[in-house]
Amino acid sequence: MITMEDCIFCKIVKGEAKSDIFYQDDKVIVFKDINPKAPTHLLICPKEHHHDFMAAPPEVHATLIEAVKTVREKLGDKAKDFQIQINNGRGAGQLVFHLHYHFMAWK
Ligand code: 5GP
Ligand code: ZN
Repeated sequence: MITMEDCIFCKIVKGEAKSDIFYQDDKVIVFKDINPKAPTHLLICPKEHHHDFMAAPPEVHATLIEAVKTVREKLGDKAKDFQIQINNGRGAGQLVFHLHYHFMAWK
């Protein structure tokens, strides 16, 4: 199990690792994916460390869903149509074990 001490996204939250931050508030941080798979590819993360989708309580997911809507509003027309992807577990392609929603748009 990856601990908060060696979690890259916790480091980004604390400002100890560099990222291109798009939006943040007291509960979530949104930054550009370092290896984008779409013209717009953002990672929406809770500031609190949760290992994966299954480990996070429903209220954390509710906060992330609100953040999806905020991001969508801030991006405007270019993200009118978007995709959310969540990889849960290595077999599904999860590489970073700090919960995150991928937000992707192609326009
Ligand atoms: P996963 O495969 O875990 O669902 O997604 C992890 C994502 O995080 C990948 O798309 C990868 O490109 C991105 N990523 C990994 N390390 C970093 C980093 O240090 N900074 C940023 N901005 N993105 C990262
Ligand atoms: Zn973390």
